[in-house]
Amino acid sequence: MFLVINARSSVGRLIRAPVCANTNSMITSLTCVLMFCAPKPVGAEVLISETYKYYFVSGHSTEELRTAIDSSRRDSGVTFDATTNWSISWQYDFLSDSSSCRITTINVNVDIEYQLPRWPERDTHHNAELRNTWKAYYEKLLQHELKHGRIAKQAGYKIESAIRGSHLETANCKPLEVLTNRNATSIIEQSKQEHYTFDQSTNHGASTGAVFP
Ligand SMILES: [Zn+2]
Repeated sequence: MFLVINARSSVGRLIRAPVCANTNSMITSLTCVLMFCAPKPVGAEVLISETYKYYFVSGHSTEELRTAIDSSRRDSGVTFDATTNWSISWQYDFLSDSSSCRITTINVNVDIEYQLPRWPERDTHHNAELRNTWKAYYEKLLQHELKHGRIAKQAGYKIESAIRGSHLETANCKPLEVLTNRNATSIIEQSKQEHYTFDQSTNHGASTGAVFP
């Protein structure tokens, strides 16, 4: 049996208050008439957060380890041997004057969480063949999940780039918000399709060796 991944996306978007408004507020005011603040160039940042979580298994044969994986992952609420959960959120500031609206600061956050099995005896168990079987499987499993992580990160960078390239020749920032968020959401959808295609093409990692035993 194989089984690997289930990529899940959640899109959150936070529209930060305009830079020339009350910066303590998280209000979603969309227009900011340029009266008090000087224009500043776009500052953009993509923050990547990757965390690893493990569920533990024990056993002295491939059968025992397989049973332990199935049991342990079920207890952990994990559908597959390993999963990658990811979410992307973005926020940005506006500046507008009488003739244009443009985006200043951009922050994109990509949060990725990998869930993987851990066999504590992988380096110490007396059965070398079992250790090698596990290591080969685990390496392929990890590579599969990391590919999901890279797809998520690429989406984050694409969103940052799409937001950075947005501006409108109008003082009204509302259409810019609509356009920008539509573009970002579209990138998320493309990314979800990429995850799906990757899993289809690898049979969730099975065809690339993420199978135990
Ligand atoms: Zn997968």
